[in-house]
Amino acid sequence: MTIVEPRRLSDKDTTIPGRPPRPLHSRRPAQASQRRHRPGRRPRRWAADAFLAAAAAGFGTVLGEVITAETRRSLSAPGGLLIAGGRLAGFSGAYFMLIMVLLIARVGWLERAVGQDSLVRWHRRVAPWALGLITAHVVLVTLGYAQSSQTGALRQFWVFLSSYPDILAATAGFGLLAMVAVTSVRIARKRLKYETWWVVHLYTYLALALAFAHQIATGASFVGHPLARAIWATTWASTAGLVIIYRFVLPLARNLRHQVRIERAREEAPGVYSIVCRGRRLDRLAVSGGQFFQWRFLARGLWWQAHPYSLSALPRPPLMRVTIKAVGDHSRAIARLRPGTRVLIEGPYGAFTHHAQSTDRVALIAAGVGITPVRAMLEDLPASVDVAVVVRASSPEDLVHRDEVATLVDRRGGQAYAVVGPRRTARFDARALGRLIPDLARRDVYVCGPSGFSAGVVSAALALGVPRDRIHHEAFAF
Ligand SMILES: Cc1cc2nc3c(=O)[nH]c(=O)nc-3n(C[C@H](O)[C@H](O)[C@H](O)COP(=O)(O)OP(=O)(O)OC[C@H]3O[C@@H](n4cnc5c(N)ncnc54)[C@H](O)[C@@H]3O)c2cc1C
Repeated sequence: MTIVEPRRLSDKDTTIPGRPPRPLHSRRPAQASQRRHRPGRRPRRWAADAFLAAAAAGFGTVLGEVITAETRRSLSAPGGLLIAGGRLAGFSGAYFMLIMVLLIARVGWLERAVGQDSLVRWHRRVAPWALGLITAHVVLVTLGYAQSSQTGALRQFWVFLSSYPDILAATAGFGLLAMVAVTSVRIARKRLKYETWWVVHLYTYLALALAFAHQIATGASFVGHPLARAIWATTWASTAGLVIIYRFVLPLARNLRHQVRIERAREEAPGVYSIVCRGRRLDRLAVSGGQFFQWRFLARGLWWQAHPYSLSALPRPPLMRVTIKAVGDHSRAIARLRPGTRVLIEGPYGAFTHHAQSTDRVALIAAGVGITPVRAMLEDLPASVDVAVVVRASSPEDLVHRDEVATLVDRRGGQAYAVVGPRRTARFDARALGRLIPDLARRDVYVCGPSGFSAGVVSAALALGVPRDRIHHEAFAF
C-alpha cells in the first residue's frame, strides 16, 4: 500500500509493513563486544583556508620566478613576447595541475575540513584553467620560436619533436592530458562507464611525469637559477609524496592493521543488502557517523574497483556495517559475496557529520538508500541535540533500516516521519517540509539522497529560511 500522507515512522498502526527491529549485531550478541569505537577526528576549520593561502602563495612564487627570468632583451627579440607568454602559461598550467592532483589526493586534514565532494568540485573547476593554460603554452611557444627562427609553426613544431627528447616526452604527456579532458566532458562522461573514465584519469599521473623533465631542462627560469630549480623540484616531489602517503601508504597500513573480512550479508529490502564486516582493532578506527569508506571486495571480478559506501551504523568493534543498493555491476555483485571475503577499506572520508552542525537542533532528511549515513549519524549526534528525521521512499519496502531509525529517534525523544509513494502523489516540496518540521529555519539541515531529491530539499530549505551554511548534503556520486 502507498502512503501519501506522512506518517510518524514509529507509529504502530502504520500501513508500512513492519519488520521486527533488527539491531546491528542481533545475531551474535555474545561476539559483538561492547567496546566503543573511536570518535571521528574533529575537522580543523582553518585547514581549507591554510590550503588556499599556501596554494596562492605558491602561485605567486611561480609567477615571480617566471617573470623575473625574462629580460628586456629577451622580450624585445623576435618572438620574445610570445615565448614569455608561453612560459608563463606553461608554468601556471603545470602548477594548477599539481593543485588538482593535491585536491583529490585524499589528504585527511583537508578532506575532513571540506568534504570529498567539494574537493572533487574544486578539482573540476580548476581543470579547464590548467588545460587551457597548457594548450596556450604549446601554441605560444611554438609560434614564438617559429617567429624567432623565421620559419613556419608546423616546421618549428617538428624541430621540437625531432631534436628535443624531453619535448617529445612532454608532447606525449600533452596528448594524454587531452584524452583525459575529452573523456571528462559531460557528454562523453555520461556515455562512459565510471571505471573506464577512472582508468583513463590515471593517465594524468603519467602525463605529469612525462612533462616534468622538459620543464627542468628547458625552462628559462631554471637555466642558471639553481634555487628556482630546487623550489620547483621540491614542489613536485612534495605533491608526489603526499599522493603516495595518502593514497597508498596510509591505506595499506590501515588494512594491515584491521584485516577486514565479510562476516555476513543480509537482504534488507528488495535489492538492498547489508554487509557486516569483522576487523581487528576496529576500536582504533576513528570514524564519525555519516562518513564513508572506499570499499574494495577481494572477490573475482570486483578486486580491481573500489566504490564509496557510507557506514550504515557506527562500528561496534569488531564489527561494522554498510548497506548497499544494487544499481550497477558492482553494487549488484554484492549479493553474491561470501562470508570470509577479504575487504580493503580506504577512509574514513566525508564532512557529512555532526561536526558540521552549528545549532542544537537538526533535521535529517534522506531518500532511499541515502538513509545509510543518516542512520549512523543518529548514533553519533550528541544526546542534547533535538532531532527531526524525514525519510522519503517510493514504496514502503524501500524504507531501509526503518525500525532502527525509529528506535534511535524514539530513544532521543525526537520525531521521525516517512513520506512514501510516487513523486506525483506524495509531494515533498517546501510546503510539505514546512508542515512536517515547522521550526526548520532554526535547525541544521542534513540531506542525503539522489541528486534531484537533494537539490529539491536544498531549495525548499532555503525557501523556508534555513541559511545556506546550515544546509549540509552528501552526494552519492562524484
Ligand atoms: C560519498 C558516497 C557515499 C555513498 N554511500 C552509499 C551507500 O551507503 N549505499 C549505497 O548503496 N550507495 C552509496 N553510494 C553510491 C555508490 O557508490 C554507487 O551506487 C556505486 O558506486 C555504483 O557502482 P555500480 O558499479 O554498482 O554502478 P554503476 O552503474 O557503475 O554506477 C552508477 C553511478 O554511481 C556512481 N559511481 C559508480 N562508481 C563510483 C565510484 N567508484 N565512485 C563514485 N561514484 C561512483 C556514478 O555516478 C555512476 O553513474 C555512495 C556514493 C558516494 C559518492
